[in-house]
Amino acid sequence: MKVPFFKPELGEEEKKAVLEVMDSGWLTTGKVTHEFEKEFASYVNSRHALAVNSNTNGMILALEACGVKNGTAVITTPYTFVSTAATAVHLGADVYFADIEKDSYSIDPAKIEEILKKDAENGHKVRAIIPVHIAGNLCNMKKINELAKKYSLPDHKIYVIEDAAHSFPSKTRDGFAGTLGDVGVFSFYATKTITTGEGGMVTTNDDKIAKRISQMRLHGMDRDAWDRYTSDKASWEYDIIAPGFKANLPDVLSAIGREQLKKAELFRQKRTEIVKKFNEAFKDCDFLTLPPDGEGNAWHLYLVQIKSEKLDCDRNTFAKELQSLGIGISMHFIAIFHFTYWKEKYPDFTAENYPNAENHYQNTITLPLWPNMNEDDVKTVIETVKSVGKKHHVR
Ligand SMILES: *Cc1c(COP(=O)(O)O)cnc(C)c1O
Repeated sequence: MKVPFFKPELGEEEKKAVLEVMDSGWLTTGKVTHEFEKEFASYVNSRHALAVNSNTNGMILALEACGVKNGTAVITTPYTFVSTAATAVHLGADVYFADIEKDSYSIDPAKIEEILKKDAENGHKVRAIIPVHIAGNLCNMKKINELAKKYSLPDHKIYVIEDAAHSFPSKTRDGFAGTLGDVGVFSFYATKTITTGEGGMVTTNDDKIAKRISQMRLHGMDRDAWDRYTSDKASWEYDIIAPGFKANLPDVLSAIGREQLKKAELFRQKRTEIVKKFNEAFKDCDFLTLPPDGEGNAWHLYLVQIKSEKLDCDRNTFAKELQSLGIGISMHFIAIFHFTYWKEKYPDFTAENYPNAENHYQNTITLPLWPNMNEDDVKTVIETVKSVGKKHHVR
């Protein structure tokens, strides 16, 4: 590969921090993770931040704490990574899918409302709406929060849980992505904007939800290991309040996260500079649609769409040629209705019923974007995209 799709940015600071934890003798969740949580909470201005071992497990915990269980349902988008939807299935809930908007990758509030209206006539099963801020570009959170409120009942609130896996640190004048609904779930997977190898964070201002997640991420215990070994209360005394999960983030990984957090803003600035160069270079390419650029986009990914009417080839051919010329590309995302399990689970869950997700999926290519791409890398990507476009342009 001339230009790989992604390169994580880990430096001497991360290495040193990991070695310190190894030397300390305390590897699992402890002091370092608690510091990471405090720092993350303060960074995004959230009352609570709970470190977990993945966004996927964080989402299960968030849904569980919001009352998602057998007999209930969640609303999310078909245009996301499958875990966003699969997590609800693990809790026995149904998933109602709302198509995305025509001109962005965001879940369409009008489609959410259609589902909520029907649901209100069918016993109010929906407990949570899960918007996903694709590539760092924010969904219409104002509208989604309004809808959740409008269709909540006095004894049963509809929660908004942001899948913020792509959107750290996306920031608007209302605050950071992940703090704009009731709960936010971040990912520190290897290719995300900051990484711990594997990991995640759940943020909320709701004390009850935070307490539930904090207990359920560690076996349903009412105390964590650090508390048991550092507080005055006997270390062997604890209660179990529910059959919990195992989703805590160990100190070894939190040590990496703390260093990455310090660099998050610098990484964001560097990605934004590269995006500016891409946008400038591609603005005259009539065979491309450039990505939506909403307020505060953290630019986790750079998605371009090819316009099939301008080219004599499809997206797959275009993508394969980029790859054969040394450009590391990816696809975000295979719309969920293309997967066997989901097709069989919901017979109406088809490409025909979700035309916007299908159209975006059929035409989108994700180009390389990472903070330390140099001038040559950026130039190589731009020139290769342009040359493949020229070769296949209809006359
Ligand atoms: C990466 C990703 C996830 C899953 O994150 P993990 O930390 O790997 O569990 C969830 N949703 C979206 C949109 C993602 O891109």
